[in-house]
Amino acid sequence: MSSDGGISSYVLKDDVTRDLESSVVKACIDSQRKFLTTSFSPSRMTECPRRLVYESLNYSKKDEHIRLSDNAGCIKEKWSSRLPLIKDLEIVQQKVLAYDANYGITDVIDCVVRYKDNLMVVNIQPVSNDEFLAVQKKGALRRHVVEIMIQMWLTEIQGGILIYENRDNNDFVMFHVKEYGPVIESVKKKCRLMVGYKVKGSLPDRPYQYKNRGEECRECEFVGECWNKGEKHEKT
Ligand code: SF4
Repeated sequence: MSSDGGISSYVLKDDVTRDLESSVVKACIDSQRKFLTTSFSPSRMTECPRRLVYESLNYSKKDEHIRLSDNAGCIKEKWSSRLPLIKDLEIVQQKVLAYDANYGITDVIDCVVRYKDNLMVVNIQPVSNDEFLAVQKKGALRRHVVEIMIQMWLTEIQGGILIYENRDNNDFVMFHVKEYGPVIESVKKKCRLMVGYKVKGSLPDRPYQYKNRGEECRECEFVGECWNKGEKHEKT
């Protein structure tokens, strides 16, 4: 008998686990596709419009993988039990579905709270240590500010609390975000443009020149499709 008393021969990596693992990956990717193709997400509104239309038209991606948010869900859950401990604060609703069909935009908001008689949207952002240090030094990241402003617009709530938590050490920092009309106007303009292309099944111009691809192109999941040899590579 082996040193573990033979118990290891009862714990298998076999066809059953392989089937289950590949089914989980497929189910997660299908579910991501379903959600992402039905709408544009406020969390990605600062990205290249062509990239977002590729996503909404369900083009195949380079290295499609499950976007695991590691411990993000746990951190958000933790805040939902921590926030009610704050004096004068009550959680009005958690996981609030917000959308505007005209602009093809949908989101699930972490929660809406009432703080000293003011309704506020709460957006919780678990971030890496590097991002957290950058936020402490330079303030909230633009993509997150735009996201919470969109959430405020969708819910018609004038204020927001943006919370960053460092995933490595649970340190946190908060920002109070107020309405800012010009951001929403530019989001609406971008969504109108993207919805128009989506309906036609065509793509917006690339915002980057080929010979000087933006940093976003290097991380873009559609870079192969976008810059394939069959297409004109100059800005269209
Ligand atoms: S490769 Fe660049 S230009 Fe093309 S969709 Fe992606 S980010 Fe936009």
